[in-house]
Amino acid sequence: MLDAPPDTKRAPPKDPYQGIRCPKCFWRPVASSRWMCRQPCFHVWNTFDTRGKCPACQYQWQDTQCLACSRMSPHEDWYEKPRGEDA
Ligand SMILES: [Zn+2]
Ligand SMILES: [Zn+2]
Repeated sequence: MLDAPPDTKRAPPKDPYQGIRCPKCFWRPVASSRWMCRQPCFHVWNTFDTRGKCPACQYQWQDTQCLACSRMSPHEDWYEKPRGEDA
């Protein structure tokens, strides 16, 4: 008798933050990670849902602080680039 695991047809949910990591310490954000906007907005959201743009005040963050090492890095640097993209 085949011992098929249940739900084999349903693919596991894709990690929406795949390919995103802190360029300094390689910490990876998760869906529950939260960043806070500057004053007087103080909106709290996951900055990787909006590519660094605050959904409340539309402020575009150029740098993103790591929740693990607390260092700031350019938001674009958080996205892993495919190899060979360097000019
Ligand atoms: Zn870090
Ligand atoms: Zn804001």
